[in-house]
Amino acid sequence: MRQIINYLFSYPKIPEFAKNSFKLFNIESDKVMIGLLILQWFISTFVTSIQYNTYFYGFFGGALIVLPILFLYPFFKGDKYYRYFIAMAMMLFSIIFIQQYLGRIEMHFHIFIVMAILTLYKDIFPLLIAAATTLLHHLIFNYLQLYEVSLFDMPVMIFNYGCGFDIVILHAIFVLSELAVLGYIIRIQREHQISLNITQNQINELNHELEYTSLHDSLTGLPNRLYLRQQLKGIKQGAIKNGDKFAIIFLDLDHFKNINDTLGHDVGDTLLKTVANILRTNVTENALVTRIGGDEFIIVLSGFNHVDYLLPVITELLKEFRKELFIKGYSLRLSASMGVSIYPDDSTSVRELMKYADIAMYKAKADGRDNFSFFTQTLNKKIHSEVDIINDMQRAFYDNEFKLYYQPKVDTKSKKIIGAEALIRWHHHTKGIIGPNIFIPLAESTGFILNLGSFVIKESARAIKRFNDLGFTDLVISINVSTRQFQHSDLYKDLENEISKNEINPKQLAIEITEGIMIKYVESALSILEKIKILGVSLYLDDFGTGYSSLSYLKKFPIDTLKIDKSFVDDISSDNIKNESLLINTILEMGKSLKLTVIAEGVEEEYQFNYLRDKGCDIIQGYYFAKPMCEEDFIELLKKE
Ligand code: C2E
Ligand code: CA
Ligand code: CA
Repeated sequence: MRQIINYLFSYPKIPEFAKNSFKLFNIESDKVMIGLLILQWFISTFVTSIQYNTYFYGFFGGALIVLPILFLYPFFKGDKYYRYFIAMAMMLFSIIFIQQYLGRIEMHFHIFIVMAILTLYKDIFPLLIAAATTLLHHLIFNYLQLYEVSLFDMPVMIFNYGCGFDIVILHAIFVLSELAVLGYIIRIQREHQISLNITQNQINELNHELEYTSLHDSLTGLPNRLYLRQQLKGIKQGAIKNGDKFAIIFLDLDHFKNINDTLGHDVGDTLLKTVANILRTNVTENALVTRIGGDEFIIVLSGFNHVDYLLPVITELLKEFRKELFIKGYSLRLSASMGVSIYPDDSTSVRELMKYADIAMYKAKADGRDNFSFFTQTLNKKIHSEVDIINDMQRAFYDNEFKLYYQPKVDTKSKKIIGAEALIRWHHHTKGIIGPNIFIPLAESTGFILNLGSFVIKESARAIKRFNDLGFTDLVISINVSTRQFQHSDLYKDLENEISKNEINPKQLAIEITEGIMIKYVESALSILEKIKILGVSLYLDDFGTGYSSLSYLKKFPIDTLKIDKSFVDDISSDNIKNESLLINTILEMGKSLKLTVIAEGVEEEYQFNYLRDKGCDIIQGYYFAKPMCEEDFIELLKKE
């Protein structure tokens, strides 16, 4: 019994997406009902009342009900309350029938149809009630009429009107046809219910598909980050149960961006698919290979007891990546960098392990790519302190903790200070002075260098103004400019603004650039440098000899001064004072033939100074003469001269 009740009530609810089509259906059923209502109105008030002369009363009374319903149709069609209203109007007409002694015409049949329409697509329960009521109604009246029994007089009186055996037969025909119609409606409802179930299945299937796509990467078909995260929980549980280890290998392709940028996304995409295949075919079956973004993949190897297990897998992968690939007519050589973290050695937290593998991957990149690196706590500490520094830099910037120091540059012949290189220092409120080698690379990697770069330009221009005001009007102050500043900031505008704001001679300012700028951003750098040159600011090529400078670059770019890197100066030793330092000689010769001024950096010893002066080096900078110093000290030194 309970099952039957449950079954009756377990009809599917109309799903949200199907509401619109149900609305259309309801509008259709409204039309049918209005049609029936009008018919009822006419029959009950006109046709059948002619005989009794009551049609004015019935017809106009009925119009009061039917006309508003017609009038409201355009506004409320499809609305369920509107349909209730029509149904109530129909019942009213049925009552009018009875009131007019027209019980002979069974109008309740309409009511059942209406109920069916109302409940169609929703619930078979009211229909069952309707069927039961029909049955009961006819049985009772059949009984009453057949045996001419009166229960309370009245009903029998109404239905007794002209009742005979023929009426009983008619009733029986009625009950059969009514039940047939109701049965038909119930069948349609069942079918509809089934099709609703089918739709539900389709929805479920669709959800399944959606779930798959939400867990997989569409390009390579590999599982994605979400899937990985879900899987890792289980993998960890497995490792706990078996008491073994698992490794997270973070793999990032080297220079993938270059391939994408130069050969196009098509090649890039195909390459990623190839990489996915390489990974799939070169790891063990129980390994989980996922793509978590652009050219980043994570491989989870589980079920081993000793780290040694990993080495052959990783080296094999690296080897596999180095093989030549042929993609869309290009022959490509690829490499990858990998970082590895191990459960439970490095951490028991999956989140931490992911982070650690990432950190280790960066270490592999920093070590020259095409490489792998295992996570270590030292690495972690380093990263942490780097993060601390990066965060602290912002604060320090607004607390004015950055200062410019000045390292004098000295003319080799006159031994007079002709200018200085501005070198940035961080006067940390608790840690003391922090050198640029610590924070400049971090500032470059985060983009903060743009702020620092602007600060250096502003501050050096102001310093030049102060030096000028003290009467030192011939100094040239050089500032270091990072590659990033060429890409993003308005280097030229900054220089121009500060020069005019402080009313200084542009010749008093020089910028030091490294060879990297010329090689990486040939065209864009060239146009900026040319503008700067026209402004009157000098251009120094810093760390000369350590990069790939070729003569062609030197000729192409408007450089006016070479700074020989300290490593070449170190080459001059007291021993080879008689033996020549070939490299330095060549650089000096080259500088002369290109008509460039040559500055030697990092001169620490007197014999180095003498050697350089004798070979025609114009300017030296180094501890031999002075270390970088704060502005006041620099001014003191100038005054002493
Ligand atoms: P750099 O441009 O090559 O600067 C020369 C570095 O050599 C300076 O180190 C200077 O203190 C050091 N030096 C000078 N003479 C000697 C010497 O005789 N012996 C030795 N051992 N070292 C000497 P510093 O100030 O630590 O700067 C390091 C690097 O940081 C600079 O190398 C430059 O690349 C960067 N840097 C410094 N200030 C700035 C800046 O304002 N902006 C940018 N973008 N980079 C800067
Ligand atoms: Ca420099
Ligand atoms: Ca240098």
